[in-house]
Amino acid sequence: MTSDLRWTLAGDKPTGLFETCRQVVGKGRYRGLTFLEVESKTIINRVAKTRYFPFEYTINCYRGCSHACVYCFARPSHDYLGLGIGEDFDRKIVVKVNAVEMTRAQTAPRHWAGHSIAMGTNTDPYQPAEGKYRLTRGVVEVLAERANPFSLLTKSPLVLRDRHLLAEAARRAEVTVSFSVGTLDTDVWKRSEPGTPHPRQRLEAVRKLKGLGIPSGVLVAPLLPGISDAPRQVAEVMRACRDAGADFAAPIRLHLRPGVKEHYMEWLAEEFPDLVGTYHQLYGNRSYLPRPSPSGRRKSNPARQSPKPRTPASPKNGQGRLL
Ligand code: SF4
Repeated sequence: MTSDLRWTLAGDKPTGLFETCRQVVGKGRYRGLTFLEVESKTIINRVAKTRYFPFEYTINCYRGCSHACVYCFARPSHDYLGLGIGEDFDRKIVVKVNAVEMTRAQTAPRHWAGHSIAMGTNTDPYQPAEGKYRLTRGVVEVLAERANPFSLLTKSPLVLRDRHLLAEAARRAEVTVSFSVGTLDTDVWKRSEPGTPHPRQRLEAVRKLKGLGIPSGVLVAPLLPGISDAPRQVAEVMRACRDAGADFAAPIRLHLRPGVKEHYMEWLAEEFPDLVGTYHQLYGNRSYLPRPSPSGRRKSNPARQSPKPRTPASPKNGQGRLL
C-alpha cells in the first residue's frame, strides 16, 4: 500500500476519502481478488444530473469491479485512488464495510427527505464481492424499511438472492432494477465482459423479477461500433428483452472518456485490430458519438456502421433510460 492512496491508513492524519484500510486476500471463489476494506466517511453521493446521468443521489458500496468489462467507464475512479485502471480495477476491490451503517445514519428521517437513490452508477452493486460482503443487501434492507425509492443497475443474477426483499421494497416505494445487456453474441460477451455472468442469465433474472412484480428492464448497453451494433445483433437483444417481459429496453452507444478510451483502444488493437482506424475516425477527440440526425444518419460519421436503435418499450420512469 503506498502513501499516495486517497485513503487514510490507521494512525495517519485523516485527510483521505476513506478511514483505514485492511487488505484481505480472496480465497476459494474469490481467488485472485484482493479486497481493500475501508470505512467511508459518507455513503450517499450527490451528483449533478445530466442527459447521460439522470440521478441526483447515488450509493456505491464498492469501487473496482471484477466483472472486468473492457469499456467500463468507472475505471478512472481507481486511478483517483492511486490504483491502476486496468488489472487493479478488475482485481483490487475497495469495499466500504460501513456502507450499511452509513446508509442508516444518512437516511435518518431528520436528515433525509426521501430522495430516490441510484445504485450501480459507478460499479456493479451485485458484483462477486457482494456474495461475500452483502453490503448492497444491507443497504436495500435499510431503504426498504424506510420506504425510500431506489434503483439498481447490474449485470448479475446475484440480485435474485434478494428478490423477496426487493419485492417488499417495491410494494412500499418506487423501485426499479435494470440490467445491462449489450450483446447476446457469445464471442463478443466473452471478449469484452470476461468476468460477467452470461447475458441470457440476466434476461432470465428480468423475467423472474417481473414475475414478483418488481419493475425491471434492460439498458442495451453499450453497443460497440462494428462489434455488437449491427442491426441483426441489436434486434436479437431487443427481441430477447421483449420475450423476458422487460418494462423497457433502452439502447446506449459506447462512450469512451479519457483514460477508458486508451484502455479500450489497447484491447481493440489486440482483439479487433481492423477496427482501430474506424474508431479513430468515429471518436477522434470525442468521448461520445455524434447524435444521429433525424433521418437516423450521423452527419459527420465516416463509418456509419451503427443502426438507429428502436425501443420496444419505455421505462416507467426515468431511472433506467439514460438516453
Ligand atoms: S459490470 Fe459495470 S461496473 Fe462492473 S466492470 Fe462492467 S461496466 Fe464496470
